[in-house]
Amino acid sequence: MVTNSSLKERPGSTSGGGNGRGTVVMSVEHVDKNYKVGAQEVKVLKDVTTQIKSGDFFIIFGPSGSGKSTLLHTLLGLERPSLGRVMLMDKDFGKMTQDQSADFRKTRVGMVYQQPYWIKSLTVLENVAFPLFLLGQLPNQAYGKALEMLQQVGMEVWKDYSPTELSSGQQQRVSLARALINDPVILVADEPTGNLDTKSGEELMKLLSDLNKQDGRTIVMVTHDLEYLKYASRMIRVVDGRVENEYGAKEAAKLFKEMGGKRGARTVQELEVAGDTKNKSINLNGNGKTKEIKSEEKDAS
Ligand code: ADP
Ligand code: MG
Repeated sequence: MVTNSSLKERPGSTSGGGNGRGTVVMSVEHVDKNYKVGAQEVKVLKDVTTQIKSGDFFIIFGPSGSGKSTLLHTLLGLERPSLGRVMLMDKDFGKMTQDQSADFRKTRVGMVYQQPYWIKSLTVLENVAFPLFLLGQLPNQAYGKALEMLQQVGMEVWKDYSPTELSSGQQQRVSLARALINDPVILVADEPTGNLDTKSGEELMKLLSDLNKQDGRTIVMVTHDLEYLKYASRMIRVVDGRVENEYGAKEAAKLFKEMGGKRGARTVQELEVAGDTKNKSINLNGNGKTKEIKSEEKDAS
């Protein structure tokens, strides 16, 4: 359903940051992130270094509470690191004011969240067009582009509805259309399938995959769902605030094959509950060494 129409490279969209395939578009170097909670300091990210390159379908994978969203927000300059350096293209977030970094994001990043937020008094079309109004575009142009984006995600027939009348899967597709309307250099999605049933989740993933494969769109996605590792061109596994390992596409697909799909279990936690990790050798490190994961013998039902 995703067509090539307007999603090709946009000249000048990277401000000289380079948008050729394989150039680094986002990076964190030795980043720590601590939060003060009362008198205590909680260490959420610990010495995280990673790079996202143009054309990547980059997945940040890990259990709930491991620091995935914090890492994503830090990569985007929404959170400042306690230590270390964060770059978006050639810009150092540490050297920008909050307003400068917000302006920078507005034109270069598209975001899809687990739970889409809507301006409820506006229609689907108006919600999708909204980011362009913020950038000062005229209504004719903004609505034309919004309709084009809705066509790309197969949602144009719903343009005059209120987003809240749509199913969760349909809402996420509209939210994807809105995220793409600025023609962002990077599309970011934090657990975008988190509230979706399996079928809608797969449909959304297929759209994301087409955007990446056909249009070369760089995607950064957070998930704790093993099922989606097969889409990654590169992946990091975050455990307790650290990057435990980095994987290429083949290793990510292998990890999915080794761990996914067992008795319908889709996450590490579900596998453990199902007793499926019993005596199973799993290559968690992507380095050929297998790690034995054992759990107590349980009835899988
Ligand atoms: P994930 O996205 O992997 O589920 P998060 O990045 O949301 O994990 O959170 C990681 C840890 O950091 C959690 O223990 C969470 O409670 C803590 N945390 C996140 N944001 C804050 C905050 N603003 N203040 C205090 N603790 C936080
Ligand atoms: Mg999260």
